[in-house]
Amino acid sequence: MSKVAIIGAGVSGLSMANYLEKNNIDYHLYERRTPNDLKGHGFILPKEGIEHLSSIIDINDLYAKGSFLKKYYHYNQAGEIISEKDLDNVFVVSRSALIEILAKGVPADKISYNSTVALNGFSNGKAEISLDETKTLEADIVVASDGSRSRIRRTIFQGETMKAVLENEVVNIIENEELAGKIESNFLKFHHENGGLTFGVLKLSSSKILWYCQFDITKFFINEDYTPDCIRQFMIDNFGSWNPLISSIIEGSSYENAHIWRVYELEKLNPFYHENVVFIGDAAHPLIPFTSQGVTSAMKDSFTLTNLLVEGNDLQETFRKYEDERRPEINIHIKNGRALLEQFLLPLNEQPKNTLPISYK
Ligand SMILES: Cc1cc2nc3c(=O)[nH]c(=O)nc-3n(C[C@H](O)[C@H](O)[C@H](O)COP(=O)(O)OP(=O)(O)OC[C@H]3O[C@@H](n4cnc5c(N)ncnc54)[C@H](O)[C@@H]3O)c2cc1C
Repeated sequence: MSKVAIIGAGVSGLSMANYLEKNNIDYHLYERRTPNDLKGHGFILPKEGIEHLSSIIDINDLYAKGSFLKKYYHYNQAGEIISEKDLDNVFVVSRSALIEILAKGVPADKISYNSTVALNGFSNGKAEISLDETKTLEADIVVASDGSRSRIRRTIFQGETMKAVLENEVVNIIENEELAGKIESNFLKFHHENGGLTFGVLKLSSSKILWYCQFDITKFFINEDYTPDCIRQFMIDNFGSWNPLISSIIEGSSYENAHIWRVYELEKLNPFYHENVVFIGDAAHPLIPFTSQGVTSAMKDSFTLTNLLVEGNDLQETFRKYEDERRPEINIHIKNGRALLEQFLLPLNEQPKNTLPISYK
């Protein structure tokens, strides 16, 4: 059986490793960061993502670490309700909890942290890859799960263009039992009447909440030092006069772990494979945050690719089938993501009715 090198231990690399482990396919996973550095913030997962996770993890582990969202409420900045919607098994969990649960399914001798892999070229249809610029790695198949700004992808598709998305985000997780109790199982989103500025808040557990803001980068500017003080100031300047729930959250939050996401997308998707290198997750198709489909898509990529590898056909045929199966759905999420971005930018009085808070295929 072929030996697979998986590059990057985010959700996509770890889920691929879990699927290969379950199917007795030989692999090794390389991650440039340390396990403690693999933190990050939170994910909203639709029902389909939970179903995929159920096949590789003990789902009760996940349920203990996050919570289901039952209802979506859309407000204006003053806190007047604009619309509400029932949600069908949408789950929210912190990235660190999901990464920790997925990593449990990968034996310690099959994952190397602090290990950066580079692609140096191709020889006889095979990628020449090296570890930490010193050691040559041997692999029959290279699974590139190295994220939206994949170096491996940029080395192969040198003409690609990554473009800044008009929206950026500040994300924060804070401890606040009282607020978590108040929010219950609701997904609250507040939208500025002129558009281009929102604040979302959800409960992660009985004592933790996740809040985020989305802002139009042509209208709102954050000091690029990105220090906790700069982020706090940005939040107070732009949300201090909103509904009291929001002003109390932003004033009462610690900003030590607040994170600013600069969002990029590929102008045009590349092929999902080249020679013996295949891309999964954000490395294949960065999806903008509005879709909430990044994790589920990464799970589905790994699931589809593993099933095709198990069939044992010719590698190019396997990769072609993988791309044929996954690309149409990704194109739908890209289209939906752009529609959700447009909607975010619009003033409230121009918002379309009955839109969903995330992308569905
Ligand atoms: C603001 C924001 C909000 C989001 N919200 C959601 C959400 O609510 N729901 C959802 O489903 N998705 C969301 N997403 C998308 C989601 O984060 C990703 O789609 C998902 O985590 C899959 O990521 P990945 O594993 O492909 O890549 P990543 O998580 O980026 O992992 C890539 C890994 O590869 C490692 N790496 C990189 N280069 C190398 C190298 N050369 N050698 C070794 N290792 C390397 C990195 O250190 C990293 O650990 C959001 C994204 C953003 C930016």
